Amino acid sequence: MPNQQDIDADVVIVGAGLSGMIAARKLLEARLTPVVLEADDRVGGRILTEEVMPGLPVELGAQWIGDTHERMFALAAELGVETYPQFDDGETSYDLVGSGVLRESEFHSRFAGELAELERVLRRLDELATEVPVETPWLAPQAAEWDAITAGAWYDAQGLSPVARTLLEICTVGILAVPTAEVSFLHLLFTIQTCGVTSELFAESEGGAQTTRFVGGTSEIPRRLAALIADRIVLNAPVQLIEHSADTVTVSCRGGLVARGRRVIVAISPTLAGRIMYDPPLSGIRDQLTQRLPNGSSMKAFFIYDEPFWRADGFNGQLISDVGPARMSNDTCLPRDDHGVILMFLEGDQARTFGRLPLAERRAALTAELVRHYGSKAAKPEFYVDGEWSDRQWTRGCYNANLGPHVWTSYGAALSAPIGVIHWASTDTATYWSAYLEGAVDAGERAAQAIIDELAG
Ligand SMILES: Cc1cc2nc3c(=O)[nH]c(=O)nc-3n(C[C@H](O)[C@H](O)[C@H](O)COP(=O)(O)OP(=O)(O)OC[C@H]3O[C@@H](n4cnc5c(N)ncnc54)[C@H](O)[C@@H]3O)c2cc1C
Repeated sequence: MPNQQDIDADVVIVGAGLSGMIAARKLLEARLTPVVLEADDRVGGRILTEEVMPGLPVELGAQWIGDTHERMFALAAELGVETYPQFDDGETSYDLVGSGVLRESEFHSRFAGELAELERVLRRLDELATEVPVETPWLAPQAAEWDAITAGAWYDAQGLSPVARTLLEICTVGILAVPTAEVSFLHLLFTIQTCGVTSELFAESEGGAQTTRFVGGTSEIPRRLAALIADRIVLNAPVQLIEHSADTVTVSCRGGLVARGRRVIVAISPTLAGRIMYDPPLSGIRDQLTQRLPNGSSMKAFFIYDEPFWRADGFNGQLISDVGPARMSNDTCLPRDDHGVILMFLEGDQARTFGRLPLAERRAALTAELVRHYGSKAAKPEFYVDGEWSDRQWTRGCYNANLGPHVWTSYGAALSAPIGVIHWASTDTATYWSAYLEGAVDAGERAAQAIIDELAG
């Protein structure tokens, strides 16, 4: 849509991430007119595929979907984006609590007791999570007790061996992208419950949330979605002010663009939503909520080799380690491409420390870790690229917003409840696979449907 000074629409949508664009499409299907205002010069938000070599895209943002992500499978099929399974043959490489580097078979036989402890705790988490209503986590029978402690404190109280406790921490940070000491135990249980069971989330090997990838890259999804609604999207339009009355909104962007409508959907992470000015001001509870919803810290680093040499040695490209800059890695080779691609995750404290080192130093530290696990062939990648998210003005961290102690019970009701003509979307407000692509679709559809119902009524 060409930039212009004033736009009239039924619904103004802030943010052309997946959630905002899904909402726009649903409104169009209901014969309402949306306009999507996007701050950046591209659509997709936390989805970002970059072609680092001809024909070789890597995912600096979202990469996988899982078997129960039915909305995403349906969306991909509808948009004509093919999928392929994540490679998962071979052994994981471990180095935990001073074990030294061990292949999976050796690690599993040496630490069978510790793995059984971990399994026991995961089953307990699954049981407790069923008591958390995803629409109203603050109404769980033990909400006050669970929201008063951190996930880390609950883990510490389970009497786990150092290996089991460390594995649990690594798996959980791999989901939340912050140390478990920063997250409410109620929030952890909510996260598990929105996804089903821990095995959907915590699978050590590929499985759960990471079974499937998109041919051409995840950005094919927002690119094709945007093409369907192109005349309703304005890029380079950072929303700064939302003026609202009982039945109208006026949304003003930096640069002077103004959009008017009957409703607005704010489809950006809550912490960024709190940086917009509202007139009249929003309630204290809503503002206090957005003061307490920090985004996590994560960085993905890709090593590209001329071949996936680790496969020949029987490895699946995954490592789990409490040594060095990355706690986990993944084989992210492309089908019908000879290159070997390994992704290393820097999450939570690792992103905050190693992620801030100069590029050459963090690359060297990550390379040394790969060499320890996969040998000297790992020392000479053809190409290296990494992507940091907290520096990005229109994201400010990922994967999502995590709630610390007392936030769900004191402020949770304000997370997705509309305020007059203002509705909230983004994956952070979802009740199904919150934090994931699936959650972004869930939240966008929910906000659009609420408006369709209101305007029809
Ligand atoms: C590194 C990384 C890895 C991930 N891996 C996975 C994965 O493998 N699988 C998975 O399911 N999920 C993954 N995720 C999460 C997934 O990307 C998100 O759940 C999803 O993309 C969120 O979409 P959204 O529309 O809710 O928010 P966003 O994508 O954040 O979209 C919000 C949009 O609003 C724009 N915006 C912000 N402020 C303003 C403003 N003031 N005015 C106008 N526009 C504004 C932003 O530029 C952005 O385009 C990952 C995320 C990251 C960052």
